[in-house]
Amino acid sequence: MEKIISLCKRRGFIFPSSEIYGGFSSSYDFGPLGVELKRNIKEVWWQEMVQLHEQIVGLDAAILMAPKVWEASGHLSAGFADKLVECKKCHKRFRFDEIANSKSKIQNLKCPECGGELLPPRKFNLMMKTYVGPVEDESSIAYLRAETCQGIYVNFKNVLTSMRLKLPFGIAQIGKAFRNEITPKNFIFRMREFEQMEMQWFCHPKEADKWFEYWKERRLNWYINFGVKKENLRLVEIPEGERAHYAKRQIDLEYKFPFGWKEIEGIHNRGDWDLSRHSQFSGEDLNYTDPETGEKFIPYVIETSVGVERSLLAFLVDAYEEVKGGRTTTTQATKEVEVVLKLHKSLAPIKVAVLPLVRNKEAIVKKAKEVFELLKPHFMCQYDEVGSIGRRYRRQDEIGTPFCVTIDFDTLKQEDVTVRDRDTMKQERVEIKNLPDYLKEKFRSSL
Ligand code: ATP
Repeated sequence: MEKIISLCKRRGFIFPSSEIYGGFSSSYDFGPLGVELKRNIKEVWWQEMVQLHEQIVGLDAAILMAPKVWEASGHLSAGFADKLVECKKCHKRFRFDEIANSKSKIQNLKCPECGGELLPPRKFNLMMKTYVGPVEDESSIAYLRAETCQGIYVNFKNVLTSMRLKLPFGIAQIGKAFRNEITPKNFIFRMREFEQMEMQWFCHPKEADKWFEYWKERRLNWYINFGVKKENLRLVEIPEGERAHYAKRQIDLEYKFPFGWKEIEGIHNRGDWDLSRHSQFSGEDLNYTDPETGEKFIPYVIETSVGVERSLLAFLVDAYEEVKGGRTTTTQATKEVEVVLKLHKSLAPIKVAVLPLVRNKEAIVKKAKEVFELLKPHFMCQYDEVGSIGRRYRRQDEIGTPFCVTIDFDTLKQEDVTVRDRDTMKQERVEIKNLPDYLKEKFRSSL
């Protein structure tokens, strides 16, 4: 993790928030490369969930919602709370489930920091509060949403009627969520502000089990298709008693992080919990009427819910490779360890680097800039002329750039360039006029 965190900072992926003020607990800012990676993850998720499923539509609901929503959803009651324990001596607070298991007795536990005695656990609600409007009183309290899906449930009817949908269908959304986590940690794994990509699949209750299986497999395969190693992923069935308050069935999709197996995505059968509660609390009838049979019922919901940053961390960790002794054959430089980020081509923040072989030959630099202009409208490109060519290849390997295009002396005679593949390190000569199509085909065939 130390290496990943340092790479993220050094190469402009992720910075601690408000760093010049000493940082701000558990908040992170995404730098120029981080923001590209994040955009790409969201893009491929949207393609997978919305573009490839004609029965799934998108939504972008507001973060602030009527507070009643959170009463109905169960988040304001004890349902959405972690058990917190406090040390009598150092007053540090911990999540009970992180220092104990369900059978542990508080008397037998000690403070993990100072060994002090712990106070009995109490429930701590994770909702973030704010005030809406100029007066800060009870009536102006609002909450920053703790999960994006409530915006979907309250719009169920709007979407159903405006889009003339029939069951089964899904609504997908990407957006910020906020949780006042007791112990945010492990870099961007657990934060208080994060982004979720959620899809709610509405179906007939009798079909819920079938769809649960479908989405479980589909979601697992999504990670594998985008390059995550199979052996680093697993599905864990959560037994009754340990599930989220809304879940009839719950599977955690876990990734093997350097700090252990941890959830990156939850697949839940939420039954009719949310729609019936919103019907009850709002007075709005959220039943669905089958146009063929006339049957009236509250649909069941299968949810797939993943954190953008958590999946980003898994993609990064999985892609990170160190090559001892160096992998670059074109330079003498390499007794050191070289880093390659083997991100899937669709996820790589920079797709193509354009590199003039030397910077002191005007004709080469001019040609390289022409190639850069040619490629820029098609791919996220970076132009780099600083340092030896070997060093520049390594800089691109370290940020996961799939292709480096080098403009050399032969280019001036032949109108062609060298294209270097990050993974195979093979170099191919390609005519400049064919370059956009050649690269497009490479990206297409990686899907
Ligand atoms: P955990 O048990 O780790 O707290 P959870 O079971 O509460 O997670 P869900 O409510 O199922 O998580 O949320 C779905 C997804 O949202 C998680 O799989 C994770 O990817 C992401 N997520 C949840 N909480 C956080 C957080 N504090 N920081 C970053 N991502 C989060």
